[in-house]
Amino acid sequence: MKCSKCGSDAVLFQDYSGMHLCESHFTADFEGRAKKAIRKYRWISQGDRIAVAMSGGKDSSALLHFLAKTFGERRDITIFAISIDEGICGYRDMKPVEKIAERYGVSFHSVSFKDAYGFTLDEIVAKQGDRISCSRCGVLRRHLLNKTARELGATKIALGFNLDDEAQSVLMNALRGDAETLVRRQVPREGFIPRIRPFIHLPEREVALYALLNVEGFIEAGCPYSKKALRADVREILNIYNYRHPAAKYALVNLGEGLKGNEGDNKTEPSICPECGEPVFGECQACRIVMEMKR
Ligand SMILES: [Zn+2]
Ligand SMILES: [Zn+2]
Repeated sequence: MKCSKCGSDAVLFQDYSGMHLCESHFTADFEGRAKKAIRKYRWISQGDRIAVAMSGGKDSSALLHFLAKTFGERRDITIFAISIDEGICGYRDMKPVEKIAERYGVSFHSVSFKDAYGFTLDEIVAKQGDRISCSRCGVLRRHLLNKTARELGATKIALGFNLDDEAQSVLMNALRGDAETLVRRQVPREGFIPRIRPFIHLPEREVALYALLNVEGFIEAGCPYSKKALRADVREILNIYNYRHPAAKYALVNLGEGLKGNEGDNKTEPSICPECGEPVFGECQACRIVMEMKR
């Protein structure tokens, strides 16, 4: 197949646009759409210290490459990497992640569940099973990431979430009947580092291709515990549906965006958790998980 724009060999067919793209036109299209999302949401500004949440997988590795390429030369913007070691035997290994960060010349910071909470994700799974471990892990990861980023002086946390992740989240919240999460808009709050997701309009397969073309040594295996989670089911349903309706994921992400209320609609104010000192809405989920594990 030939590129619809220049006639060179194509590396990608975009089913939703009907276009075949060569490597350089794919790269231009991909980066253009990530930059557009950053402009639309005013995600990056002068003086920002951006902490890239690095698992070392395709999404976060692609994100580091994109941010370093786009903002690496800017003297007023600092980029660094934070990795969370959940403690998954035979899967989580920080060495390759550190190597990727090194290659981009950004400083690398690694923190572990074991050091922060006293137990690993393997121990959560052993005690509570692997059906709920994904949500437990997600709570602890967000908690530790926010704390670490703030302590390192970050003004933004950059996440490698792609279009598929976002669409899955919207559908999962709908299937759980979680209206509150669907309508809650992220607003700047003391203690919470704003989270940015430059790839939210880019399909997973394009992020994977961008990583393959640009990043050496990213980790290809997914988390061994993720297969039983609700997200895995939703991902499968959505991929089957999307095959015949290529705009479905965009529609879900737009729906999620459209449901979010205005800043002033958020009635609850955060408080500071007396146990861990992190800002929280209501009960601190992370400290509740730590209590459960100690019981
Ligand atoms: Zn081309
Ligand atoms: Zn707490």
